[in-house]
Amino acid sequence: MTPLLAVEDLSVTFTRTNWISRLLDPVPLPAFNIIDGVTLSLMPGETLGLVGESGSGKTTLARTMLGIVKAATGRIVFEGKEVRTPADFCAMRRQSAMMFQDPVASLSPRLRIGTLLTEPLVIHGEPMQDRRAVAKALLAQVGLPASFADRFPHELSGGQARRVGVARALSVKPHLLLADEPTAGLDVSVQGDVLNLIAELKRELGFAAMIVTHNLAMIRHVSDRLAIMYLGRLVETGPTQDVFSAPMHPYTATLIQSEPVPDPRQRRAELAIKGEIPSVFSRPPGCEFHTRCPIARAPCRTEAPAYRRMAGGRMVRCHFPLETGGQEREAFSRASPNIRGNRHDQMEHRPA
Ligand code: SF4
Repeated sequence: MTPLLAVEDLSVTFTRTNWISRLLDPVPLPAFNIIDGVTLSLMPGETLGLVGESGSGKTTLARTMLGIVKAATGRIVFEGKEVRTPADFCAMRRQSAMMFQDPVASLSPRLRIGTLLTEPLVIHGEPMQDRRAVAKALLAQVGLPASFADRFPHELSGGQARRVGVARALSVKPHLLLADEPTAGLDVSVQGDVLNLIAELKRELGFAAMIVTHNLAMIRHVSDRLAIMYLGRLVETGPTQDVFSAPMHPYTATLIQSEPVPDPRQRRAELAIKGEIPSVFSRPPGCEFHTRCPIARAPCRTEAPAYRRMAGGRMVRCHFPLETGGQEREAFSRASPNIRGNRHDQMEHRPA
């Protein structure tokens, strides 16, 4: 089957500068890859979870895949056609929609919800006989009363604003929905409502979804496949249940084991990952995760690992992947005694 969206060797560069350095030294400063060599695809109707800590580059990657951020190198192929010219990007955006992390901030405060919902149709030149009727139909689709068409964005609760964000994104009947942290800042019960709504509409309308999140508990239940990012690079991809049941990259394993669980004996398990994520401006040599990896060895500090194709359609970027029954998995368990599932009794509690 042809992927709906595929990117090959995608990189995004950024030059660290400010007005003082520009004034004092007009010579261009070195560019840094904030997204580096990403190859990834999304099949029609699939839900892909793009996961990583803050600063891992997941939102930038998702936006670059949709042409919102300009790629420095690499190829983007949408529905089998390479996206190169402004007209290609325009055509791709017509078939894709984005749900922003802060739905209220992404809407004009001066426009009513009815106008905001139909705005994408106007932008794309879609014919509408009765704009108000279209807005009401979109509100009904996301379970909101027709009277909401007359409200302003600031009059919505967090959950209602997300629903409006979903309705606005789906107004153009996209083939792809990009949702950036769709449950951020919502109560757990409202999170469930929003996710159920997206899943229901996905079944009904058949679009593919890319969900950017650091919420593992949420993504576990809604995605078919996961792509784990660290410092602008993919470190692991694979079917969601396989990745959760047997993570192969030490970063994925620590992220999963850091996931809070409703068990008081295991609280504060988020202590698992050591230290802060490094800056892309001072990327560690070799494997970028070696400064935090519990099983780093000498080659990890000098040699960058290549992507390795594993069984079950999985990919991992590690010299020593944690294969089931392998010595690396055992070494990882021994080296991470405070991580849930290894030695509960010796769990060390530090402030998160
Ligand atoms: Fe850890 Fe080495 Fe694998 Fe990097 S390459 S994740 S440092 S084991």
